[in-house]
Amino acid sequence: MASHGNPTSFAATVFNYLIAGRGTAGLSALEAGLDRTSDPKVLTSDFAPSMWDDPDYDWVFKTTPQVHGNGRVVSHPPGKQLGGSSAINFDDWTHASRHDIDDSGEHGNSGWSWDELFPYFLKPETYAPPPPSTSAHVDITIILPSLHGTTGPIQDSFPPFYDNVYKAWEPIYKKLGLGPTGNPKGGRAAGAYMTLFTIEPKNASKIYARTAYWKPNAGRESLVVLTGAFATRVVFAREEGMLVAPGVIFTVDGETYTASASREVMLCAGALQLPQPLGTLRNWRSKFAPVTRHRGAV
Ligand SMILES: Cc1cc2nc3c(=O)[nH]c(=O)nc-3n(C[C@H](O)[C@H](O)[C@H](O)COP(=O)(O)OP(=O)(O)OC[C@H]3O[C@@H](n4cnc5c(N)ncnc54)[C@H](O)[C@@H]3O)c2cc1C
Repeated sequence: MASHGNPTSFAATVFNYLIAGRGTAGLSALEAGLDRTSDPKVLTSDFAPSMWDDPDYDWVFKTTPQVHGNGRVVSHPPGKQLGGSSAINFDDWTHASRHDIDDSGEHGNSGWSWDELFPYFLKPETYAPPPPSTSAHVDITIILPSLHGTTGPIQDSFPPFYDNVYKAWEPIYKKLGLGPTGNPKGGRAAGAYMTLFTIEPKNASKIYARTAYWKPNAGRESLVVLTGAFATRVVFAREEGMLVAPGVIFTVDGETYTASASREVMLCAGALQLPQPLGTLRNWRSKFAPVTRHRGAV
């Protein structure tokens, strides 16, 4: 039975794949935050801002005072709970423009082109066409069903109701010449347009990584999540002269444990925190260079 585990049994198990950070990218994992899937603040889409700057839900990161921003300190709230930032984000379901994706490929990342990635944009999505009430307020002419997925675990929909601001902003931008210049889902995401939201159309609850990917797999015995577990360091070792990562050191309630993996260690702790458990990588590299293979993919 998939479970939230306990630190002692978690540390005694050798996992095939060990993932630190159970946010949008991770799955079976050590997660520093808690499981808040029955919390109305998480499940009610518009309540997201009520979680920001609250250390129970978010890491409460702040910038330094911004010299060119009149000394202002700006909040950056990455999610701290099962589902990570997808649990506290705005629910917009959209993606970048074709030229942004193609640029990544042109900078030497093979396989990164719009045409190669487009099928994967559709894979997670189950699209709900807009109800008639939406068509009265939103320009739906830019929506082409063929550019949407229909079988994925992420349900997305348009809200059935619009307040006056929502009704007004799209026409205003169009009037200013700042409307969409092509199809946002077809590779032209510039200009003002209404996105779909990752909201279940039947009951208007938020769909996020925890509900879409963990819940349907919760019965799998091989899937274990340990919440409240902070990964402090990837364990590096030498194996036949090569650098490998056989595990991760983590803490729960001030106690330190080591989790083990036979195949891969993956860090999915988000863009800002991912480097932290790698603190010792540079030392290990200099000790065991050249690094030709990582057992742990980091
Ligand atoms: C306020 C906000 C609004 C956003 N709005 C949108 C939107 O509307 N649409 C959209 O597409 N995108 C939006 N985004 C961006 C999107 O949510 C993120 O890009 C995406 O969730 C990042 O996924 P991730 O897996 O890389 O990281 P995260 O989802 O942040 O997951 C990282 C996880 O790792 C955990 N973690 C961190 N350090 C450790 C550690 N040392 N040990 C154990 N666990 C750790 C964290 O608690 C977290 O659960 C928004 C983001 C934010 C913050």
